[in-house]
Amino acid sequence: MSRKEALLRLYDRLVSERELLRLKLVEDLGLTYAADDGINDLAETAQLDEQIELHTQLASMESREIREIDAAIDKIRDGSYGQCERCQKAIPIARLQAMPFTTSCIDCQRKLEQRRSTHDDFEANWASAVQYERRAVDRELSLSDLDQG
Ligand SMILES: [Zn+2]
Repeated sequence: MSRKEALLRLYDRLVSERELLRLKLVEDLGLTYAADDGINDLAETAQLDEQIELHTQLASMESREIREIDAAIDKIRDGSYGQCERCQKAIPIARLQAMPFTTSCIDCQRKLEQRRSTHDDFEANWASAVQYERRAVDRELSLSDLDQG
């Protein structure tokens, strides 16, 4: 099978995957909005909140994946698909079949990940520091609310 044929097959696969994801997305969004009908029980409400939270997360994952598929489909159409964005070499078809949204070859990916992992550690520390501060502020606010009541 030539690279072109393989890309065509991948294209078909992505189109049908996108269709499935759209159906799932509609379903998850539907559950999110339809879920709060006539339930007053506190435990049920908590359970419902969890479900809505879950479906909202699923929906956002699904819509992100749809955007990635859209981008890949556009690239296949205009012929820029399967080319490493960094070194411009053709990405092997086996890699594309395993990871259809990848935009770099294995070599560039590795270099990128090495750089990213040091960067991520730095960012993660900042993120948890910010989160901790926010939680401390929340606690102060709820305490002063209690004092007033
Ligand atoms: Zn590359």
